[in-house]
Amino acid sequence: MKSRIVLFTLSLPLLALAADPAAGGVDAAAMNKTVDPCVDFYQYACGNWIKANPLPADRSRWGRFGELQDRNERVELDMIQGAAVTRAGRSPIDQKTGDAYSACMDTEAINRRGIAPLKPILDEINAMANASDVTREVARLHDRSIGVLFSFGSQPDAKDSTKTIATLGQGGLSLPDRDYYLKTDPKSIEIRKHYVEHLKKMFALAGDTPEAAAQKAQAVLDFETVIAKVSADRVAMRDPNKRYNIMTKAALEQLAPSFGWDAYFKLVDAPAFTTLNVSNPDFVKGLEASLPGTPIDSWRAYFEAHALRSYAPLLTEAFQKESFDFWQHYLTGVPQERPRQFRCVQMVDRGMGDLIGQKYVEQTFGPDAKAQITQLVEALEKSLGEDIKLFDWMTDATKKAALAKLQAITNNVGYPKKWRDYGKVTIARDDYFGNSVRLAEFTHNRQIEKIGTPTDRTEWGMSTPTVNAFYSPQQNSINFPAGILQSPFFDPRRDMAVNFGGVGSVIGHEMTHGFDDQGRKFDGEGNLRDWWTPQDGAEFEKRAACIANEYSGFTSVEDVKLNGRLTLGENAADNGGLRVAYMALEDTYKGKKDVVDGMTPEQRFFVGFAQVWCENIRPEEARSRAMVDPHSPGRFRVNGTLQNMPEFQKTYSCKAGQPMVSTNACRVW
Ligand SMILES: [Zn+2]
Repeated sequence: MKSRIVLFTLSLPLLALAADPAAGGVDAAAMNKTVDPCVDFYQYACGNWIKANPLPADRSRWGRFGELQDRNERVELDMIQGAAVTRAGRSPIDQKTGDAYSACMDTEAINRRGIAPLKPILDEINAMANASDVTREVARLHDRSIGVLFSFGSQPDAKDSTKTIATLGQGGLSLPDRDYYLKTDPKSIEIRKHYVEHLKKMFALAGDTPEAAAQKAQAVLDFETVIAKVSADRVAMRDPNKRYNIMTKAALEQLAPSFGWDAYFKLVDAPAFTTLNVSNPDFVKGLEASLPGTPIDSWRAYFEAHALRSYAPLLTEAFQKESFDFWQHYLTGVPQERPRQFRCVQMVDRGMGDLIGQKYVEQTFGPDAKAQITQLVEALEKSLGEDIKLFDWMTDATKKAALAKLQAITNNVGYPKKWRDYGKVTIARDDYFGNSVRLAEFTHNRQIEKIGTPTDRTEWGMSTPTVNAFYSPQQNSINFPAGILQSPFFDPRRDMAVNFGGVGSVIGHEMTHGFDDQGRKFDGEGNLRDWWTPQDGAEFEKRAACIANEYSGFTSVEDVKLNGRLTLGENAADNGGLRVAYMALEDTYKGKKDVVDGMTPEQRFFVGFAQVWCENIRPEEARSRAMVDPHSPGRFRVNGTLQNMPEFQKTYSCKAGQPMVSTNACRVW
């Protein structure tokens, strides 16, 4: 846990039961054994960790993911600092990452330049006079990856995933969700009041008089409220069939004739196309009904607010501080900003993840680790296959299709097959603002260039040092960056039962996403196609509703309950993933009951699983996440899952009526 660089050079066979005792198993110090595991397993597995790890001042949430991410960022920092000081004969990777970091750290130069780098952008916004200027400005801001009004980019055609097509979606808000603008409870009203105060301060910093700043701030809130009113909620947008609306450019123009679509597509350099997907046509219609006739001053205020927000972290200390005070301190409860060096590391990671990622993988992730994880993935795939075959609620026809989809999953372990090329981006040691603008333009251009091209199935959405994993429904792939394939998720030297509970449950989770409320609507080729018999589809929905109801009953913080429909896919994946990992464990151990640290393999498995979710969270952050995050908080990811699982209850001899034994146990997969 303490070493900065974890090297995977050991070559123990993955499925061997022998473990190096020195490498340990579960984290015994994290547990609170005074808690009855049948009453609150999360506290039992994590209680002492939670007590011993209060929130650091610069975090809104702190858990095992955060600990590991912190370690990974320190590895990155070492590499980047090395790249930043070695001037002569540097590799192109070191030049770009080192100079981007140096420019970010040069606060003296940043403060000296003041608002000057942003001035041309603000001037261009304030020079707008008519509707065609508005169209041009939307395009210019989109080019710089600033999300005003709507989103436009590319994605695989949901019904023919081999082709990448143009796509237009709802967007244009600043607060985290449309509900922030629409809800009328006292907390929501208070947040909007603070938001307007924050906007006033930002406009004043950019040079406005207090009167002008106040007027503009109110105009921004009013404008965004109009957008919020025509936006669909997150749960509605989870349905891939609702999001699939292919139409011609002419049909889009009919939906919103007052926007200069043709001019816009030319201005963002979109390749020629005739049809596109409009994920929410009602949103476009709603904009058309509400926005023409909006005074040009409101458009200016709205665009300026978005530009100031995007660029504040690149400007003087005063801008950074005001931005932090509202977006992090007020909205998520964090008292202190992260040290600048780590903000600069994150900037390099987000902007050039495939450059820093190459070095990270070289240092931390050997071929043996890759081989071991690949074997583990195969063991879990086998278990999910067995699991599907055993279902009594599913007909053979649907089972066959489900198994075919499982068979077709592509496994990507550690790093992408192809690294992104940043050759076109100029990174200068003395131009933090310019570097960031160029990286944002590069990102946007890549999106736009893909319109009308064959889908690149090797693409990854995460940098390799990221502590996370993902399932891509349109590639039908599961992806595990090297960043998460480390302790406490995985350690090749430790007790295998703990690895099955840690990384095994993560692998099972990603696989199950292929069959959750969204994933089940795509086939093995990644196409939106209904492969379920109507009866089996109805059975699935019935089981999914059980999970949705269960999690809707959990209180996240104070008066805020979880939204079981928003978190359905993640909760279903947690439940299914843990079961599949458990089956793989049993298949591997074949009845062997070795006791380590006083625990059976099954007990180590469940503690290993729970311990990746130990966390502390600020109430502000919990409140915000309940509205926008499709994942449940750590304690419900553990207890909500385990209370559905007879295998867990048997392991700890829990009895009916105890909290960890659900009276209405849900099960989908
Ligand atoms: Zn997930």
